[in-house]
Amino acid sequence: MKHITAIILLVCLALGNLQAQDSVYARRIIKTLSSKQMYGRGFCHHGDSIAAQFLASEMQTLGLLPLQVNYMQHYTLDCYSFDGPVSLSVNGFELEPFTHYRILPAAQLTRSDKLSTATWSKQLKDGTWVLGVPQLDTYSPIAGPEKANPYFIEVVDSIITKKVRKIKADIPISFHKDYRTQNVVGYVRGVIDSMVVFTAHYDHCGTMGEGVIFRGAHDNASGVAAVMDIARIAASKKPYYTMVFMLFSGEESGLLGSRHAAENPLIDYSKVKLLCNIDMFCGGDEGIMVFNANSPNTKPFFNQLKTMNDETHAAAEIRPRDNRPNSDHYWFTNYCPSIFLLTMGGPYGGYHDPADTCKLCGLNHYNDFMRLILRLANLD
Ligand SMILES: [Zn+2]
Repeated sequence: MKHITAIILLVCLALGNLQAQDSVYARRIIKTLSSKQMYGRGFCHHGDSIAAQFLASEMQTLGLLPLQVNYMQHYTLDCYSFDGPVSLSVNGFELEPFTHYRILPAAQLTRSDKLSTATWSKQLKDGTWVLGVPQLDTYSPIAGPEKANPYFIEVVDSIITKKVRKIKADIPISFHKDYRTQNVVGYVRGVIDSMVVFTAHYDHCGTMGEGVIFRGAHDNASGVAAVMDIARIAASKKPYYTMVFMLFSGEESGLLGSRHAAENPLIDYSKVKLLCNIDMFCGGDEGIMVFNANSPNTKPFFNQLKTMNDETHAAAEIRPRDNRPNSDHYWFTNYCPSIFLLTMGGPYGGYHDPADTCKLCGLNHYNDFMRLILRLANLD
């Protein structure tokens, strides 16, 4: 009898473990999303759609119900990509893509083009050179045209030591009008209709020419992995709240996927108790930052997180910040209580940098942070 009790206890412990947050599962998702087969989850080679297919089939495997046919909420956006080889030389010196120069993400085209020259150059106070390409329309999707960054190519590392005499560029850029992309959306029915929503963007910066892949492990394969891990746990039990999971594309183009989801609702916002967006979840040595923590409808959730953390010391700090249009929670703040969680401190590989790889994404605080989030969602 004792023997049987011990076996039952072991089975229960194993099942309990299955349901707990799991950095091994998260690591697998991050590894897949940041692999070169995903082309940086941008618009080059349809990396966004490859990633979306993977996430939809993962939702199906976990047993989530689709919020839309095949879990896909399609929409269109205008975007551009650098698919072919790129080259840029200054004064006859060939520059390395990304290492020596960056094509700024804030700049956006309105037609396909091939950069063959830059008509002016300027050295900034910090030594960085910027090259102007006036035939391109540039604007910041969030700030609008009046606050546009007028520079298109930024040359880093002070690689230009003499006055710029000659700029030679061969940078083919494809403009895609009405590019079809998608959010990936699923849910788990709870005991009650009231909902807790988890969101994260799965898109990233794509590729630059043939050699540079922006893998985006921290930004934001890690946030997607956390959301999928929560989905896995929710699907393994009958959660109290109905749990909704929305993974957006178009974030790097100006929060376009989340804007589409907010303005074309698939759920009744009046029933949402809390929407929690996770963007950049590797590292966290210094704790967690919570954006939109001070609004009347979100302050109780921030206080709950802080109290839980005071008891458990899961994070070095839980820091409140006001609302900002810096991630996908932003468009939902008018409809329901919405917060955005971001880790503070490393380790992670970089920001909008090809070095942001799975290998450099630290998950040593992952299980501790997830315990707080699961309690917030009544999933512990
Ligand atoms: Zn980003």
